[in-house]
Amino acid sequence: MTDIMQGIDVLVSEVGPRDGLQSIKSIMPTQAKKDWIKALHEAGIREVEVGSFVPPKLLPQLADTAEIVQYARTLPGLQVAALVPNLRGAENAIASGAHKITIPLSVSETHSLKNLRKTHAQVYDEVKGIVALIKSQPADKRPHFEGSLSTAFGCTLEGAVPESTVVKIGEHLLALGCDEVGLADTTGYANPAQVRSMIKAIWAAVGKDKLTGIHIHNTRGLGLANALAALDIGITTFDSSLGGLGGCPFAPGASGNIVTEDLVFMLDSMGLKTGIDLEKLLKVRDIVKAAVPDEMYGFTPEAGVPKGYVQTSKGGNGWGLGETTLAAE
Ligand code: ZN
Repeated sequence: MTDIMQGIDVLVSEVGPRDGLQSIKSIMPTQAKKDWIKALHEAGIREVEVGSFVPPKLLPQLADTAEIVQYARTLPGLQVAALVPNLRGAENAIASGAHKITIPLSVSETHSLKNLRKTHAQVYDEVKGIVALIKSQPADKRPHFEGSLSTAFGCTLEGAVPESTVVKIGEHLLALGCDEVGLADTTGYANPAQVRSMIKAIWAAVGKDKLTGIHIHNTRGLGLANALAALDIGITTFDSSLGGLGGCPFAPGASGNIVTEDLVFMLDSMGLKTGIDLEKLLKVRDIVKAAVPDEMYGFTPEAGVPKGYVQTSKGGNGWGLGETTLAAE
């Protein structure tokens, strides 16, 4: 679905049903997940990472991913993304009809062993297998394949992660046949200067079109600052989760993703088009709250939309302050 950016400046990719639910113990019923995704779609969300093709016994919460992918495929114009830890997962994702599949590779090898239980070499083997599998599919069945560079900004186990290592691994994933790489601050260690520097280093090595998205956690409260740093130099896709749901069970202390509602308010109030109706988005919370209470937060939902505010998505221009700050380069 190459036209996903049509009519918008920034793609907000909702990862709550995957990253959010992954760390929540109480199992969300399949129907509630479907209602949630449908409501997100109705609010104007164009991409949702709906689940992960991991063995159900490892993550019972996501055992219904195949069914959720099939359901989400019925929503027109929605790009359906799924995480795949290995070739087996990719087979299931493609069979279910996912438009986009992402394999996470922890730049920290220690984290990789804990999270995927694989060395880098072993992950590369999975990537090779997945690339071959994709190539063997008819053209209209081939998903977009992203290699996600997780723990790219630091690791709870190894500490600092050198920028040069992130670049090298990114180059290797692309050489093996990934369509794109993504940057993920799994642990919430990133700061805005580091975000800018890392993106520029990867762009210099592989080209701007091979890195368009970033996955940020709000562990230390720098989530939106990091998103803005990435936005200002030209990143156009941002992962976030409704109510900041989630975290990573293998990165102790890592809290949830940036809050979709706050991200959308920031972008929309800057006059950037996301295609998302903020008021409808705020109402989606009720569905999630009913199924998994006490897991969400967010500032915009608490404070409400400002008085007199006209959404960019409804033909306004946020506060009408004129020039946006999007992509100077
Ligand atoms: Zn994450």
